[in-house]
Amino acid sequence: MACCSCPAAWRSDAALANAADVFLSAGRTWRGCGKAAAGAAGMRGGMSGDIAIIGAGLGGLTCALALVRAGLRVAVYEQAPQLGEVGAGITLSPNASRIMIHLGLEQGMRRLGVVPPRQLTQNLQTGKVLVERERGDGVEAQYGAPYLHLHRADLHALLADALEAAQPGAVRLDHKLEAIASDAEGVTMTFAGGKRAAAALAVGADGVKSATRDALFKTAPPQFTGQVAWRGVLPRAALPPEVQDLPPGIWIGEKRLFMRYPMRGWDLVNYAAFVNLEGWSEEGWAIPSTIAELRSHYADAEPMLLAMIDATPPDQLFKWALHAREPLDSWTAGSVTLLGDAAHGMLPFMGQGAATAMEDGLVLARCLIEFPKAEALQRYESARRERTTMVQTQSRLLGLQFQGKDPESFGKGPILNEDTLGLFAYDAVTCPI
Ligand SMILES: Cc1cc2nc3c(=O)[nH]c(=O)nc-3n(C[C@H](O)[C@H](O)[C@H](O)COP(=O)(O)OP(=O)(O)OC[C@H]3O[C@@H](n4cnc5c(N)ncnc54)[C@H](O)[C@@H]3O)c2cc1C
Repeated sequence: MACCSCPAAWRSDAALANAADVFLSAGRTWRGCGKAAAGAAGMRGGMSGDIAIIGAGLGGLTCALALVRAGLRVAVYEQAPQLGEVGAGITLSPNASRIMIHLGLEQGMRRLGVVPPRQLTQNLQTGKVLVERERGDGVEAQYGAPYLHLHRADLHALLADALEAAQPGAVRLDHKLEAIASDAEGVTMTFAGGKRAAAALAVGADGVKSATRDALFKTAPPQFTGQVAWRGVLPRAALPPEVQDLPPGIWIGEKRLFMRYPMRGWDLVNYAAFVNLEGWSEEGWAIPSTIAELRSHYADAEPMLLAMIDATPPDQLFKWALHAREPLDSWTAGSVTLLGDAAHGMLPFMGQGAATAMEDGLVLARCLIEFPKAEALQRYESARRERTTMVQTQSRLLGLQFQGKDPESFGKGPILNEDTLGLFAYDAVTCPI
């Protein structure tokens, strides 16, 4: 990805590629939990006092639910006036679905999710299958948890409803964090409109544009990554029969990637299309686009891909520029820590952004349940930072491989992806903390 307009803070692709070579030549597969702090968990009392979570996204809700299930009380401050998620899809790989099972949400997850039997990687111009990956029973047998596609709103509602049932009123809507002050004793927060709150600890789970991170950490603003994304959702029945029967997969080509998968019992098809493009960098998930605009970037694509674009209802096609941040040296400032995109926003090429946010949420909850505050925060960071930095880096590198000049060479050499890195084996429920 040539991204000459990005500031120097956005690390060069050559430096990243070098990091990948080192990783590859060391022959490593990622299975551990990072450098966990020494000592046996479970022997000491957890933190006392109120816990504030800023942001009711997938990471914040996972953390809140895990804490409440263990008998702690939380207040989740969400800027939106209503709870919800955008109408797009999300993939839950076994490292994330395992967390849903642990939280008692297996039945709902399986009811609402689609387990794809396999996933193809294809040349976007010719449709030729370059790589085929098992995603069905074999994955579940290997990892003990399924690989599924869900509607984001369904996944979000599963977590939010469970939290509401466990602690009614835990989520405080219409609370947009504007200022936060923190020391070793606790935190004070100021929200839009002048509302204020205090807590013994706050967790910044407020996404890639995190106000918590901006207020308390030395950090550059999110940088445009050179990737513009489109998302579309369409009824499967609107597609020609041969396209309806296409297994989930991705089409790849120079500077482009188009990912497709089913949702809601195969009734809907979700896609996300990426183009490495300079000159437009607006943020947001709801900027309307047009079929003609998306088609113009895929004019040379095979007919099945174009049929998918053409069948999209015009009001169901949106675009936005992808932004990300460099890894932080530390996630803790006094009595505040970060999780998910706020801590380590990443490119979506391994489908691990929400998964790692949920892993953070559960591991942080376990630390807070078992250890006093300062120790819990230190253990959380030790357990999580190495893994998430690696996933952040590798997601970007995989994007470069997917969007390389010669798609036909993809899969012929070593690939570092979510499978080969062993990301699915990570167990946030039992990993050492
Ligand atoms: C195209 C695309 C496809 C993706 N597909 C996948 C996938 O298949 N699998 C996967 O694991 N990941 C995927 N991701 C990544 C995933 O969507 C994110 O990494 C994930 O949503 C991060 O969760 P989070 O809880 O950290 O933050 P968010 O989901 O961003 O939630 C943050 C919450 O904080 C709230 N908030 C923000 N600011 C404030 C404030 N000042 N005060 C109070 N509240 C605030 C927001 O309203 C929101 O509710 C994808 C991303 C993209 C762009």
